[in-house]
Amino acid sequence: MKVVGIFMAKHIPLATPTTYSEEMKFIKEAFDRNWVAPLGFNCDAFEQELCGYLGQEQYALATCSGTAALHLAVKLAGVKSGDVVLCSDLTFAATVNPVTYEGGIQVFVDSEPETWNMDPVALERAFEKYPQARVVILVHLYGVPAKLDEIQEVCRRHNAILIEDAAEALGATYRGRHCGTFGQYSVVSFNGNKIITTSGGGMLFARSEADRKKALYWSTQAKEPEMWYEHLDIGYNYRMSNVVAGIGRGQLLHLQEHRDKKEVIYRAYEQGLKDTPLTMNPYPEDTEPNFWLSCATLPEGYPVKPVELITRLKESDIEARCIWKPMHMQPVFAGNDFITAADTPVSSRIFHNGLCLPSDIKMTREDQQRVIDTIKSLL
Ligand SMILES: *Cc1c(COP(=O)(O)O)cnc(C)c1O
Repeated sequence: MKVVGIFMAKHIPLATPTTYSEEMKFIKEAFDRNWVAPLGFNCDAFEQELCGYLGQEQYALATCSGTAALHLAVKLAGVKSGDVVLCSDLTFAATVNPVTYEGGIQVFVDSEPETWNMDPVALERAFEKYPQARVVILVHLYGVPAKLDEIQEVCRRHNAILIEDAAEALGATYRGRHCGTFGQYSVVSFNGNKIITTSGGGMLFARSEADRKKALYWSTQAKEPEMWYEHLDIGYNYRMSNVVAGIGRGQLLHLQEHRDKKEVIYRAYEQGLKDTPLTMNPYPEDTEPNFWLSCATLPEGYPVKPVELITRLKESDIEARCIWKPMHMQPVFAGNDFITAADTPVSSRIFHNGLCLPSDIKMTREDQQRVIDTIKSLL
């Protein structure tokens, strides 16, 4: 880099897509075979290849986004107008918005401090207050698996359907089994900054062929098998295109490599920040996160706040980000209930004290050292 007068620091992004030549091969095949329409051989292959990777018998449906897949999951779970759905509180709004699309009512369930995900004790309390609830939407935040055994046990006892939002957790495992295989319906996302990307896209996983068929029907405009367009139901245009699926097939070849690079980044922060007041986002021993985003928290009451830290890092052209703002703190959900088992909500505490650190897998060791040194100089 040419330095003229002042030192121009290189921009360090939070996370950006990392692409290869394999994607072009699959895309080119779509063009060569003049198959640039929605659906087609790349979609079929991408669905099969991802099921193979996850290693459980399930039925996949490629969609135009993770949010679309979540909407289909909410429909499959039978959520109707006025139904209460118990949802992770600390997450991105896309996890819970599809409940509103179907007229359901979200009740938000607090996090526990060990994984930052839904607290099974708070979930139990939520069922005590809302015994009629039949659906739970659980997220694995930042690629750290939730306490699945405990959550599944509570769901079983209350005869509830578990929808698993694994949008951030593709490649993560819980007791040796992949996230995205635990829910009755599970969802992953291939949005631009996820661990692998198709530029935009998602996938729904169901446990039966009948469920996949129903989701396929809704996702392709709910057409009846007639010569003309006959409709008995409201449909959507939610399928993935054959070109986009080609990107996904190429990316999937690099998923494990991406996960491993993300872990190296997490370890370097863990090591580099160990003598600071920052604590890395935790995970239990029986899980292998995908380390999608490295996050850290400051102690409660620490004089420097994450928003100041993020602002100051930006001045050095380093992109850090706030933790997802909890759903119970969102103005749009001001009328929705929130259940916690703690004196102070865990989700709010993580939001106020935490931040997401640059986790781009193209970040060099030197770049990351600059991030660490800059953070140290600000604390
Ligand atoms: C990204 C994300 C989604 C939405 O996926 P899109 O593909 O962007 O629609 C849903 N839930 C969580 C937790 C996410 O991070």
